[in-house]
Amino acid sequence: MKKPVCVRCNVEFRPEKTGVYVVEMYQKNQEIYQIWQADIWQCAICRAQVVFGFGNQPIMAHYDGDCNAKLEELKKAGAVIVYNKEVKWLDVKWFDDRPKISE
Ligand SMILES: [Zn+2]
Repeated sequence: MKKPVCVRCNVEFRPEKTGVYVVEMYQKNQEIYQIWQADIWQCAICRAQVVFGFGNQPIMAHYDGDCNAKLEELKKAGAVIVYNKEVKWLDVKWFDDRPKISE
């Protein structure tokens, strides 16, 4: 499996924390769509982080039952939670130091 590469630093990301949970939101971020297990990878130079290495299937989806109860259970167990929220691109305020990608 190829590893993610940092656009800014031109080096591969490295695994930073395995077995985190990604909570994918929908319905304007009011509801949980799916919960996934994955890993956090980090650039050794600039420390940018990315979630990578998802499982093949979510551990739970909204049609499987009460995702909020599952999330509370994971939090109580001390799990690392990352949210994957819906975003409207027009509302994003870009950081001035983002990598410049020439076209
Ligand atoms: Zn970097």
